[in-house]
Amino acid sequence: MPREDYIVTIGLEVHCQINTESKMFCGCRTSFGEDPNSNICPTCLGLPGALPVLNKKAIEQTVLSGLLLDCKTPEISKWDRKNYFYPDMPKNYQISQFDLPLCIGGSVPLYHHNYPKDYQKSIANPGKKIGLTRIHLEEDVAKSTHLPNASVIDFNRAGTPLMELVSEPELETPEEAFCYLKTLQQILICGGISDADMEKGQLRCDVNVSVRPPSQKELGVKIELKNMNSISAVRRALHHEIQRQCDELDANNELTQATWRWNDGLGVTEFMRGKEDAHDYRYFPDPDLLPVRSGKIVDRMRPHVPELPHDKAARFETDYQVTLYDANVLASDQSLANYFEAAAKSSSAKPKKTANWVINTLNQHLNEANLSASESPVAPEKLAGTVDLVEAGTVSNNQAKEIFEVLWKSPARDPAEIAKELGFEPADSGAIEAIIDEILAANPEKIVEIKGGNEKLINFLIGQVMKVSQGKANPKQVTDSLRAKLLS
Ligand code: ZN
Ligand code: MN
Repeated sequence: MPREDYIVTIGLEVHCQINTESKMFCGCRTSFGEDPNSNICPTCLGLPGALPVLNKKAIEQTVLSGLLLDCKTPEISKWDRKNYFYPDMPKNYQISQFDLPLCIGGSVPLYHHNYPKDYQKSIANPGKKIGLTRIHLEEDVAKSTHLPNASVIDFNRAGTPLMELVSEPELETPEEAFCYLKTLQQILICGGISDADMEKGQLRCDVNVSVRPPSQKELGVKIELKNMNSISAVRRALHHEIQRQCDELDANNELTQATWRWNDGLGVTEFMRGKEDAHDYRYFPDPDLLPVRSGKIVDRMRPHVPELPHDKAARFETDYQVTLYDANVLASDQSLANYFEAAAKSSSAKPKKTANWVINTLNQHLNEANLSASESPVAPEKLAGTVDLVEAGTVSNNQAKEIFEVLWKSPARDPAEIAKELGFEPADSGAIEAIIDEILAANPEKIVEIKGGNEKLINFLIGQVMKVSQGKANPKQVTDSLRAKLLS
């Protein structure tokens, strides 16, 4: 059966570390990069008898996530023990939430610009939203490292607040899964909930995927994929796994429910464990923790709901008259958006021009230096000053880029002063007029042709003037002046 005839169903479970100073159930610090096993105490080591204490900030941030994603927040939420043999959690249960999570329902919008670039022209369902089942709060486990002859374990990560977001099985393509993760990541960063860096393990994703022929009503056999370490790996893994499942069905082989892992190096999925290993976690309420009443927390967090990327993009379109595409690029990165707004406000040029500069010239420099816009050496006002020089006709766009290069290295300097130093002649300079007259005097036959109707030849004269001025002249001024002299 052709691939595209199979119905693909994908659901994602995302674990996200919440930005907090201290751990979920104890006062240990959550800082990164410390010596192994330095941020530990009896509670996060799971020693018998140690008592957990709830982290207020983690609960607030989870509720805020729920508000960002249009979830319902039930009045009562409680804590349960998820029992299992955890090699990296000595108490052998994880404190999690079972039947009364902090947030229920909600959705993640699939932002157009967050689809893979090569797929944006063929988006099947523009404006689609993916339903969320729930968001609950739990604790992270310790980190095991397997060496050739031993395994070592670092408990600094154990007990870090971890939020789990479970989607409904409503994703239909690897590209939708890609877009879902990008958008979720942006919204969590925008809300200050997490840095959500997948490579740093702050955002982790388990993928459930099944395929079925259109004649079949019920969902196909579910395969879980683990070990995803980037959003593009999720897309690659899904393409491979969907192909594999379709091949099996085409060959009349039965699929069995199982967990597979993605090997990104080899580009294949590998069998991990079958359904016979399915776990019964024997959830029961944690006797050490009282349930939480969320009403007051929701009221307290509501004022902290930030402008979401899609609302920001809509505002940029209206307030600054930039294109939807530009608005999306700017709004998807909080610090770039702030930079753009600051620059647009202090520039007299059309915001569209400022947006171009931010998206192209600035962004390129930031990417090369691996900086965010808030870390840009060139302040928004200086970029605005540079754009204003182009707008005033003092320098050309290319000359302005040279000014920007100087600013990037010496950000304290003034764009107009740099223009002067580089010898870019301002529009009122007599030097350029002198060159123009010189070129006109040297080309009497061209003048006759232009006056006779061959206006394109003006470009030849502009080129000559630019050459003689060694690129210092402003092309717009040269064009205006030549046209005035020859055509009026
Ligand atoms: Zn601790
Ligand atoms: Mn979990």
